[in-house]
Formats: sequence, C-alpha cells, structure tokens
Amino acid sequence: MQTGVFIISAPSGSGKTTLVERLLRELPGLLFSVSYTTRAPRGQEQNGREYCFITREEFESMVRSDELLEWAMVFGNYYGTARHFLDDASRQGKDLLLDIDVQGAKQVKEKIPDAVSVFILPPSREILEWRLRHRSQDSEEVIRKRLLDAGREIYGYDQYDYILINDQLDSSAERLKAIVQYERSRRGNRGAPEGEDTARRLADSCRKERVQTQVVPILASFGG
Ligand code: ADP
Ligand code: 5GP
Repeated sequence: MQTGVFIISAPSGSGKTTLVERLLRELPGLLFSVSYTTRAPRGQEQNGREYCFITREEFESMVRSDELLEWAMVFGNYYGTARHFLDDASRQGKDLLLDIDVQGAKQVKEKIPDAVSVFILPPSREILEWRLRHRSQDSEEVIRKRLLDAGREIYGYDQYDYILINDQLDSSAERLKAIVQYERSRRGNRGAPEGEDTARRLADSCRKERVQTQVVPILASFGG
C-alpha cells in the first residue's frame, strides 16, 4: 500500500488546529508529522508533541545533511519536515499528515506530485478576527499582526487541490474527513469505505473549481 501524503495549510486562526485534532481523533491511519522549528515553545506546547524545538545551528545542520523533506522561514523562524516521517508512516502502514505553510506545501508538491493539499479559509476577515479574539490566546498586538499576515497568506490558496471554508465546525470536520476518505479510496488504499458516495460528494464540493465563487467575497473582505 502506498503512503498518501496530506498537506494542510491555513492562515492563523482559521481553525486548522481544531480541525486537524478532530481528524486525527476520528479517522484512523494518519501519522501527524511533528515539525522542527527554531521558534520558542508557546503556552502548553511540549517538545516532541506540537513541535521539536531546536536551535538555529541544529536546524541549519539538518538542512546541510539533507534531513528535511521541505523547510521554510516563516515569520522569522525556521520550520521544517523531517524526511524520516515518510518512512515512519510507510512502516506503520499509515498516511502522513503535514501541517505546513504555503512555501512548504509548494516544495512537497514538487517532490511528491500526488500529495493532496487542502487550504482552510475563514468565512471572512471579520469572523477570523472574532475567532482570534475569542481564542483569548494572543495580545492585541499579536492579533493585529496575525490579521495582517492572514491577509497575505490567504492568496496562496490557489495552489491547493481543495479549499475548505471553515464555517460550521461539524460540517467542516466532515468535509475534511471526506477529502481524506475519498482520496484514499481513489488510490485504492484501505478499500472502499462505507458511504463512499457521500465522501466523494463532500470532497467534490471542496474542489478549488467548485468554491471559486465563494472565495471571491472572502478575498474581498481581506481587501483583495
Ligand atoms: P489555527 O490553528 O488555524 O490558528 P484554531 O484551531 O486555534 O486555529 O482556531 C481558532 C479559534 O477559532 C479557536 O478558539 C477555535 O475554537 C475557534 N474555531 C475553529 N473553528 C471554528 C468554527 N468552525 N466555528 C467557530 N469557532 C471555530
Ligand atoms: P506556528 O508558529 O503558529 O505554530 O506556525 C506558523 C506557520 O508555520 C503555520 O503556517 C504552520 O503551518 C507553519 N509550519 C509549521 N510547521 C511547518 C513545517 O514543518 N514546514 C513549513 N514549511 N511550515 C510549517
């Protein structure tokens, strides 16, 4: 069985962490790639769980010895995916789930063309702002910076296979699950799941071509 690679990207506050956690809980057979980063841990983050926290020197040494499948500088820090996760997933008979930014997604697609990519969008700038405030994790200054960054990152959506507009949480979680199930069955991995038609229909509704008209007002709300 071939290991599938699923890439998920989103501007901060779009609901990526919430949706990825739910996907991992509800759908067996996915290995989450724990990235390496030079940024400092935040809040409750633990080394080896959310990220492997390393120094700049250690990161640069990993780059030199070609240990990374992709890497990028994001908001002034290095982030990268270790190659060994691909072997780990394959050995465990799982698919690999990458939570990476637009630059990393581009590199992975170049190396693994049949990787499946999903971009999560908030329904509008106003809702993104509301969610960032209600998450109560960031200072006013950080929230403003995240909103500015989101306005830039959002334009990367075009290179992705699927666009998931995160409106109602339950519906978004179902659609994300459907994308993975449908892509698995399309590749002949893990047999045809029950409800394959539903998965195909839901996944199809997130295809880039299908959501174009919904994306236009979202980009407009960010001033695009
Ligand atoms: P990210 O990982 O993209 O930065 P989070 O998963 O932390 O985003 O979500 C940001 C905030 O929005 C959290 O407080 C989360 O509970 C909330 N949230 C996520 N998805 C939805 C949704 N569909 N509807 C309402 N609130 C949501
Ligand atoms: P944060 O510091 O908020 O956890 O993440 C900042 C950004 O870095 C997010 O867009 C996240 O998807 C991205 N990111 C996390 N890990 C990686 C990685 O291994 N490679 C790349 N290219 N981006 C990553």
